[in-house]
Amino acid sequence: MSPGTSAYIGRFAPSPSGALHFGSLLAALASFLDARACGGQWLLRMEDLDPAREPPGAADQILYLLEHLGLHWDGPVVYQSERQAAYADALEQLREAGLVFPCDCTRKRMRQLENVYDGHCRKRAQVPEPHALRLRIENREITLSDQIQGCYGQNLSQECGDFIIRRKDGLIAYQLAVVVDDAWQNISHIVRGFDLLDSTPRQLYLQEKLGLPLPRYAHIPVASDAMGQKLSKQHFARPLDQGRAAEHIHRALEFLGQAPPPALQQATVEELLAWGIEHWDIHEVPRLATIPINED
Ligand code: GLU
Ligand code: ZN
Repeated sequence: MSPGTSAYIGRFAPSPSGALHFGSLLAALASFLDARACGGQWLLRMEDLDPAREPPGAADQILYLLEHLGLHWDGPVVYQSERQAAYADALEQLREAGLVFPCDCTRKRMRQLENVYDGHCRKRAQVPEPHALRLRIENREITLSDQIQGCYGQNLSQECGDFIIRRKDGLIAYQLAVVVDDAWQNISHIVRGFDLLDSTPRQLYLQEKLGLPLPRYAHIPVASDAMGQKLSKQHFARPLDQGRAAEHIHRALEFLGQAPPPALQQATVEELLAWGIEHWDIHEVPRLATIPINED
């Protein structure tokens, strides 16, 4: 398919909770290559819904580094912090469908329930503020066919129970915001880290209840340290060094099973990405949850 004629729309949706590290580069690169190889668009959405966890300047730093890595996105960046009205509409739609109820259960209680909500507040007439809003789920299996991980399913009543769509502090939960925006941006394909696979059934359920189209999903393995701990901003994975952009891309291509030829060892970022787009094969991405890397 030639560029511009494809219905493929992909995205990268970082949370600006810190600098871009190798783990986030993998999700950025995989979603970029899959989109470009299909002649599709690649959009960028900043998931900045939790100011307390977002160091000032982190979002700009991510954009700056993506540019340096040659990962140029299409169109304007969407900021979730500017999308509150859309989330309020979606909440209202779910409320009208009778699927939303307030809950003031404590973290302690949730720990006792091992984080599987038991429906305790479903039928309470009065729930004092502050309270969260939960979405009523159904006792049935929700499955998807992931392009990398294969068939995956969950019965939400066993995995999480009625889940939070607006937090006690008033912030919109990731699960709700992500489906509203993926639909609004007409995202057709989602390529992201394995750590989000277990959120996908909740997102499919929300899409169903909101009458939204279902994108195609692909979950790539996440990079872990030698101890098997996922690399994340919270675990202080080292920020990427922009002076080594080509090296990072080369390593990420290897990690994604794309086997860049040794001759590309000295290639520029542009050459590496051109090779990556031409040779991208999503079926070569290892069907694994995590892959350890040495941080050097
Ligand atoms: N903002 C999420 C994160 O950085 C990713 C959301 C998604 O790709 O669905 O982990
Ligand atoms: Zn409750």
